Amino acid sequence: MEALIVENLTAGYPKLPLAIDDVSFTLAEGERAALIGPNGAGKSTLLKTLVGLIPHQGGCISLHGYDCSLSHTLLGYVPQQESIDWNFPVTVQDVVMMGRTRKIGWLRWAGRSDQAIVQQALERVGMASFRHRQIGQLSGGQKRRVFIARALAQETDVLLLDEPFNGVDVTAQEEIMSTLDKLRDEGITVLLATHDLNLAATQFDKLLILNKRLIACGKPDETFTPENLHAAYGGRMSVIHHNNHDDFVLVAD
Ligand code: ADP
Ligand code: MG
Repeated sequence: MEALIVENLTAGYPKLPLAIDDVSFTLAEGERAALIGPNGAGKSTLLKTLVGLIPHQGGCISLHGYDCSLSHTLLGYVPQQESIDWNFPVTVQDVVMMGRTRKIGWLRWAGRSDQAIVQQALERVGMASFRHRQIGQLSGGQKRRVFIARALAQETDVLLLDEPFNGVDVTAQEEIMSTLDKLRDEGITVLLATHDLNLAATQFDKLLILNKRLIACGKPDETFTPENLHAAYGGRMSVIHHNNHDDFVLVAD
């Protein structure tokens, strides 16, 4: 079954050329897809459009068969982390409760069931014992896991993550990947923007290669080709295959 169906999606910013043009793809339930493309390719714009932060100018988004305009709350979104003020005096638990806001509404207090959902979301990412910590005191990997919990607290089964590996070390990257492995076992569908091409080629079920238009979409071993990478990145990249295609090294021309 398809979880997400995107057809002919077009979006951008006022008075500027389109940022994404005629993008169509599907994600099956439980599938883990990587979204790659050069800087400015429209990766963040695509994720923000899917989640309704940017209006789309054309096309449609369907989640589990629901029309996009009715179902934005079904999508969990983990924004790029660089813009977050980590000195903001909120606890881990507070951050995850923000994921309940759209369900709770602004006019009533969080109830017992909201607290139970927050607790469960923290357990699913292995962060329950940190719930009273101030968010700024956590490591990079822990912060990202808390934001994944915030998205899960929306009671969603489709997660969009924007460059979660930016600015974290190898340990944090492994932490995030193992959280994603656990969510895959639970049947959560993931679309993750990254500029780590090796990770995209080896750790994901599907690759979406974007440069304003979708250049390729499919299994990594079918789409991670020199032709597609050249089409996305221009003449700046070459691909060298190693170890029976298990490893890729990218070199700038
Ligand atoms: P990526 O995430 O792949 O680096 P973006 O989605 O951020 O790409 O950007 C796609 C295009 O949209 C770029 O040309 C970028 O300059 C432009 N853009 C992104 N955000 C804004 C914005 N808030 N206002 C105007 N243009 C933007
Ligand atoms: Mg981006």
